[in-house]
Amino acid sequence: MYKVLIDKMKVVNSNPVEYYFLINDSWRSVNELIGKKISFIWSGYVFCFCNKKMKKFYRQNFCYDCFWSLPQASPSIFKHELCQAHLGIEERDLDWEKKFQLQTHVVYLSISSGVKVGVTRKNSVEMRWIDQGATEGIVLAETPNRYLAGKMEVYLKQFLADKTSWIKMLQGEVDGVDLIAKKKEIINLISDEFKPYIFKKNNLQKIKFPIENYPKKIKSISLEKQNVVEEKLIGIKGQYLIFESDCVFNVRKHTGFAAELVIS
Ligand SMILES: [Zn+2]
Repeated sequence: MYKVLIDKMKVVNSNPVEYYFLINDSWRSVNELIGKKISFIWSGYVFCFCNKKMKKFYRQNFCYDCFWSLPQASPSIFKHELCQAHLGIEERDLDWEKKFQLQTHVVYLSISSGVKVGVTRKNSVEMRWIDQGATEGIVLAETPNRYLAGKMEVYLKQFLADKTSWIKMLQGEVDGVDLIAKKKEIINLISDEFKPYIFKKNNLQKIKFPIENYPKKIKSISLEKQNVVEEKLIGIKGQYLIFESDCVFNVRKHTGFAAELVIS
């Protein structure tokens, strides 16, 4: 039995993807728990980024103060087109925002259920694809900052979805789409403003997850609804643990939950 503060699983892009939990300051393989019964027993408390202990979060995984003051919780985190650090304008903390926003970003196409468009920092693109359970990804464009990538993403939403159906993703129901052909098609539709940023190489990345048999019906379970989750792990995809009972557990959504983890 281990006391853990749940955090999103660390991933390594291997064949298949390797997942790790941080337990007692060391990384423990989650892949090795496949086939075993695991339990999360919630303490009834959650911890914010700032260490504040609460019975529940205010919004997302933040306390009230952090949600309204931290740059990590600002509106531009989700709406990239609202970024203003490139103009020297502060949203919440200009130094933090400059470091975060003024680095190379990519606009990508990925397939987790159907084709979608998304934005992330160049150095975290593979991790992003794995976290969303994408089986394929390709970089469409590279921009010098987050704002431009966000602006391009907004423009591309007229042709592409920007959301994943997590249920289809977890059922392994994935549209077969040729991403290189799709990228070509999108490049032809793009306005001149964005053409200089097109990433010319077509490095298609394929991702294999540690799951053999996908569940047919999906039931999402959480520690807020039931204090104890005790299930046999049969696979992992995205940031979800998939159990034999067709229940799925979103690890990332439980960031900051103080729990006991029992492996049997
Ligand atoms: Zn806080």
